Amino acid sequence: MDYYGSSIGRLIGSLKSLPGIGEKSAQRLAFHIISMPEEEVKSIADSLVEARRSVHFCKYCGTLTDDEVCPICLSAEKGRRNKRQIMVVENSRDLAAYEKTGRYDGVYHVLGGAISPMLGIGPNDIRLKELILRLEDGDGKCCVDEVIIATNSTVEGESTAMYIVRLIRTLELPVKITRIASGVPVGGDIENVDEVTLERALKGRTEL
Ligand code: ZN
Repeated sequence: MDYYGSSIGRLIGSLKSLPGIGEKSAQRLAFHIISMPEEEVKSIADSLVEARRSVHFCKYCGTLTDDEVCPICLSAEKGRRNKRQIMVVENSRDLAAYEKTGRYDGVYHVLGGAISPMLGIGPNDIRLKELILRLEDGDGKCCVDEVIIATNSTVEGESTAMYIVRLIRTLELPVKITRIASGVPVGGDIENVDEVTLERALKGRTEL
């Protein structure tokens, strides 16, 4: 039953469709929003639409960016970062977490998720093909020294890591494959890990 007016009911419904927002949080946010000055609400709405419209995926690494090429890939193009070292992460938030450590000067590859049979996400649903394409230059020669697999320590993250290793081995690409160390807690999301732990995990990575 709709206890509130239909427009607040619709607002609660829309907010609930966001990840991590349950019925209670949606109600709390909805009531907060209707108590705000109209100008402020409009500014939030505009920034939502504007972000959705102008943000797209970097044509090289797949991270979210306003331009065709993200600032990290751009600086790699200019020779300021090591293009021959690619760190594979699940999403842009993980990339941001590693960037915050300030200790990594390679480039990234953002998968846009992890393989999860439970959620119906298969290898073709994440940016694996694009990763393989980046490992070879135009002549089919390997142009990368190291692929650092930094997917989360969750079941999905681990099986994605295994899949990538198998894929690269099958193609017989002469590239070193490493996995970040276990400093990242098992079952933990990289974005929630502190910078020191991430830096240690990166330093202590092991070859697969
Ligand atoms: Zn990029």
